[in-house]
Amino acid sequence: MRVGIIGGGAAGLVAAGFCENAEVTLLERNEKVGKKLYITGKGRCNVTNNCALYEFFPKIVNGGKFLTSALTAFPPQSFMEYVSDGGVRLKTERGNRVFPTTDKASDIIKALAARAGKNAAIMTDVRVTAVRKEGDVFKVATSRGEFEFDRLIIATGGVSYKATGSTGDGYAFAKSFGHKIVSPVPALCGIRLASDVRTLDGLILRNVRATVTAGGKKFSEFGEMDFTERGVGGPIILTLSSYINRCALAGETLCIDMKPALSPNTLDERLVSDFGEMPNKDLVNILTSLLPSSVIPYVIAQSGVSPRVKGNSVTRDMRYALGFSVKNLAFPIAGLEDIDTAVVTSGGVELKEVDPKTMQSKLCKGLYFAGEILDTDALTGGFNIHCAAATGRAAGIAASGG
Ligand SMILES: Cc1cc2nc3c(=O)[nH]c(=O)nc-3n(C[C@H](O)[C@H](O)[C@H](O)COP(=O)(O)OP(=O)(O)OC[C@H]3O[C@@H](n4cnc5c(N)ncnc54)[C@H](O)[C@@H]3O)c2cc1C
Repeated sequence: MRVGIIGGGAAGLVAAGFCENAEVTLLERNEKVGKKLYITGKGRCNVTNNCALYEFFPKIVNGGKFLTSALTAFPPQSFMEYVSDGGVRLKTERGNRVFPTTDKASDIIKALAARAGKNAAIMTDVRVTAVRKEGDVFKVATSRGEFEFDRLIIATGGVSYKATGSTGDGYAFAKSFGHKIVSPVPALCGIRLASDVRTLDGLILRNVRATVTAGGKKFSEFGEMDFTERGVGGPIILTLSSYINRCALAGETLCIDMKPALSPNTLDERLVSDFGEMPNKDLVNILTSLLPSSVIPYVIAQSGVSPRVKGNSVTRDMRYALGFSVKNLAFPIAGLEDIDTAVVTSGGVELKEVDPKTMQSKLCKGLYFAGEILDTDALTGGFNIHCAAATGRAAGIAASGG
């Protein structure tokens, strides 16, 4: 049995690692495998999440049901064992995030490549340009001539961070076999704002609540976010982006509760006390005890109160307006950041056309898909690499006849 694997990312490498008793060839366009893995987890590679499966599933934004079989067969602890057997020690950090003890993503790549190399000939600098099936044989045209396989696994990733090799070639291959591609959109990405927020660039907000109402639904996250030159990013924004990426966003608003721990009444009492303690100071200076200074002009502007009003001249209505502004600081949304900057691509090969147990195409026998090319995506925390690995494993076992 000749098995071809296109793509040497997490999915392709793990697929190869599970292709036993077959003649396996992995084709990777880059000069080395795992180029995207190298930049994951800020260079440390958060390879999976050491949680129970019932905690894993809620972290999947798209494709949870489809992934049930693959994840049940290959839960995080099994993947950790697999990676460890490849020669790398792992540690579990806050939020069950798993990293190599060396904090080097390259060690994860080495481990996955070592396991893959036991079964597969790994060929780098080979870009697949077209794929067709003649009779029972897959003919794979590449920059280095044509290859023939009995089974073919497409693991070419999505279309984010294209410099790592994932430029969407696999979508065209899938389409050529009649597969539908759910249009790729950015997930786990920043949100661009329509207003000028350059003076907030670099500001990190912790313990805030960000809310977006989009597509008639309200999405809300508590935690850390930051401002960029033209928008917002950081953990809670990335999460929100994955939920709103198919909604029309122009005209929608990002609302930040700067003090979610304080009820409107408690916040009002705090303002009364601050104004009482600083009766002769300007409002703009009084609020520094409550808020980061760069955000104060935005809060005051939204409230409609003059920044130069003195503490002892703030009326009750002014105070209410300020309190509302602190808890509902609103920014009009322009849209999501470009897909190339997204941590993952949402969309890809339509799941209805793929067998969830084997990852085999329901349209073409012997054709398999694995990893981010599928219409699945999850939140941050090691879940995306894990899903790539679990689907890679399922495809590898099935394609090699297991
Ligand atoms: C900055 C960043 C940080 C991230 N951090 C994390 C993290 O810490 N934890 C986590 O779980 N997830 C993380 N992710 C997401 C995760 O990296 C991906 O979801 C996962 O690696 C996808 O694996 P894959 O094998 O499906 O695709 P890819 O890793 O994209 O691999 C696809 C491979 O196919 C090759 N290829 C494409 N077309 C061809 C062709 N025509 N011929 C030959 N080869 C081809 C590409 O060169 C590439 O090597 C991060 C992503 C980014 C961008």
